[in-house]
Amino acid sequence: MRVSVFGAGYVGLVTAACFADVGNHVVCVDVDSEKITLLNQGIVPMHEPGMENLLVTNLNTGRLQFTTDPAVAVQHGEVLFIAVGTPPDEDGSADLQYVLQVAHVIGQLMTETKCVVNKSTVPVGTATAVKNTILRALNERGLDYPVDVVSNPEFLKEGAAIADFMRPDRIVLGTDSPEAIEVMRELYAPFNRNRDRLIVMSVASAELTKYAANAILATKISFMNEMANLADSVGADIEQVRLGIGSDPRIGFDFLYAGCGYGGSCFPKDVKALRHTFQAFGGEAKILQAVENVNQQQHHRLFDKIKKFYGEDLTGRCFALWGLAFKPNTDDMREAPSRTLLSLLWAAGARVQAYDPKAMSEARRIYGQRADFKLCDSPHAALDKADALIIMTEWKVFRSPDFSAIKNQLKQAVIFDGRNLYDPKRMKARGFRYFGIGRGESL
Ligand code: NAD
Repeated sequence: MRVSVFGAGYVGLVTAACFADVGNHVVCVDVDSEKITLLNQGIVPMHEPGMENLLVTNLNTGRLQFTTDPAVAVQHGEVLFIAVGTPPDEDGSADLQYVLQVAHVIGQLMTETKCVVNKSTVPVGTATAVKNTILRALNERGLDYPVDVVSNPEFLKEGAAIADFMRPDRIVLGTDSPEAIEVMRELYAPFNRNRDRLIVMSVASAELTKYAANAILATKISFMNEMANLADSVGADIEQVRLGIGSDPRIGFDFLYAGCGYGGSCFPKDVKALRHTFQAFGGEAKILQAVENVNQQQHHRLFDKIKKFYGEDLTGRCFALWGLAFKPNTDDMREAPSRTLLSLLWAAGARVQAYDPKAMSEARRIYGQRADFKLCDSPHAALDKADALIIMTEWKVFRSPDFSAIKNQLKQAVIFDGRNLYDPKRMKARGFRYFGIGRGESL
């Protein structure tokens, strides 16, 4: 099939490359000319495991092309995917300007009927707005083609995006058009072999499904964080509680880890946008409000422990920070808990020596040169003469470090662990003061 994808970010690039990989001819278009130049050279502008290989392989077959020219994309695709960003607007609602710009361009350029598919995460009603925008632009040209706008939300996770796309848990399609269902069934067939994962529903249901999915995951995180904070107060260990509750199959073990809060480009903005939808329809999202409040407090949780340990004024203190990305296997630092912590440490007068396996350039881009921030080449370089180690991202490389070396390099053997990577009893036996999240330390 001939497919075009608008947007070459995490979702657009993965979508384009995966469709090309199974034999489709794909054009991917982006307004960011620097990104397109890199992609045409086989260079992936972000860190996503396996992406470079997939990109180069499919560029070489000629089945994957990148352009900044939307006319090429509109003309090429029988199916046009919209996968541009939907960042939060000032009031927390999803900013649809990029999605609607693409819709307008499609309406300005299309010369035959197309199946338009929205993959961006958008509030209920957006597919209709996209369709109306296309029809208006067609109308201005005196044209009137039938236009189907399908909602096909994406559930991939950064860091495992290719595997998630190639072997999806579900493929959600929101449409009432039998023709569109057929086209999408054929396009997704290579990813839908072992059992039928296609779930066809109304457009509004599909749009809401994506938000509901992210909101329930964010809720699980905030719930466990709230329990962890109580565990700290009462001297319980949240890890033992996790095992105790996760063994009930109605609860399950997935996504029950306490930590320093959720971040990234999706959970924070999607929870906010969903709350906004409630308000727009005269309702109030009481649970989601609580989820957000707990998360905001949780971003401060390690800093609160640090303050209790050292006092309010951290002038002259230096901290080693392991992990800047909002989660492992990505260089994405959007709304990462590390960013809140850095601001708090700097405001209290501390210096930070940081290391992250992939997010160093991103940190350099965000913070530039600062006297109170040093990016180090290795986890151990970051420890040099620091007062304590702080862990913010659960990268594999931090899981079994050389504890004797850590002890030798730190001024004092103190670890604040926002990801609960180590066993508190063993840490005590190794001679560390070890403060996790909800591990029974009443700091
Ligand atoms: P991103 O910011 O990485 O990429 C968006 C891209 O769209 C950018 O490269 C931008 O230049 C491009 N763009 C903007 N306007 C354009 C236009 N008019 N024409 C062509 N390109 C244009 O965003 P992302 O993370 O890929 O997310 C895209 C959408 O998918 C969002 O709605 C997001 O919520 C959703 N989503 C993201 C993830 C994720 O893990 N990142 C997962 C599922 C769904």
